[in-house]
Amino acid sequence: MFGLFSFKNPRFRFIIIAVSLTFVACTALIGYVALPAQIKPFGIKNDVIKAPTLIGYGVIKASEIARASGLRIEVDRWVSSKDYPINHVVGQKPLPNQKIRKGDKVIIELSGGNTHRDSGEARGQSTVTSEDQRPLQSLPDQSSKSLSGRVVVIDPGHQRRANLKREPIGPGATETKEKIQGGTTGIKSKRPEYQVTLEISKRLKSVLESHGIKVVMVRETHDVNISNAERAEVANIVNADLFIRIHADGALDPQKNGISTLYPALNKWTAPIYKESLRAARIVQKSVIETIGRKDNGIIGRNDISGFNWSKVPVILVEMGFLTNPEEDLLLNDTKHQDLLASGIGDGIVEHLRTIEESR
Ligand SMILES: [Zn+2]
Repeated sequence: MFGLFSFKNPRFRFIIIAVSLTFVACTALIGYVALPAQIKPFGIKNDVIKAPTLIGYGVIKASEIARASGLRIEVDRWVSSKDYPINHVVGQKPLPNQKIRKGDKVIIELSGGNTHRDSGEARGQSTVTSEDQRPLQSLPDQSSKSLSGRVVVIDPGHQRRANLKREPIGPGATETKEKIQGGTTGIKSKRPEYQVTLEISKRLKSVLESHGIKVVMVRETHDVNISNAERAEVANIVNADLFIRIHADGALDPQKNGISTLYPALNKWTAPIYKESLRAARIVQKSVIETIGRKDNGIIGRNDISGFNWSKVPVILVEMGFLTNPEEDLLLNDTKHQDLLASGIGDGIVEHLRTIEESR
């Protein structure tokens, strides 16, 4: 007769066929699972979910909820509302429990404002104003009008607890970086950077709001867990005119001091925002130095910052001084100096926004 490993043996033929079929089936299954959800021929139903309730939540929380459901959100406009605090969701499309496909956008309306973000009216005012007609800065009523449609997102650097899990440094990147680092600490005051950055950010918020600018804060407490990429996402969601990140510097050498402003270096992610970010960095750095009179460490282009590479809107990061330098540590914790910093940064932002149309 014939041996076990001969094709003439029916048992061997059966085993070969069974193994081949199993292999083909597994390959097909793995291939199917790997297909992007949008183009899967079957199982589309699995991607259709009920829209979560976002109404009533602050924009940051709403984006968290959406992300957990595999959705994105985008702010359509701000509307006046007596029922909710500022920057809370008052309307959403689709409505809660209506069908939506994973990966799709929920369009939201936020409370707090007389200006309709994308109506073009508010922006149009400054667009049509020529050089000669532009109101002088000493006329607050006129000048605040021209900024009333503007949105600035402030990111007070760091948070109480670092999150050392990693995230890609940009969309699709293989290189990763910690989600949110711990930041530095005052050499004398012993106060952590996340406290100082929030204190100054709140002051900056008031300065900007006094010019009619709409401000969205990435955080208003220390007990949050928002990665750098997610912070950029907040700025993207509201389509901010500027994403300003507030930090203090640190170095091993306690002599090191001074102020610098970081901006995204030109790379495959930052090309659309590079020019305007660089422009903002120059203006804000100049304004801060003029107001504060500390050492000017200049502006620095950076490729490696997740919060830059994930941003779709112009972004800069101000290093307001070294907490590791005894003198600057005391200054950064001094309320008068904090006010000066806030107005230096705020004036720079106002100047940038007011003159931005020319550069576009
Ligand atoms: Zn920092």
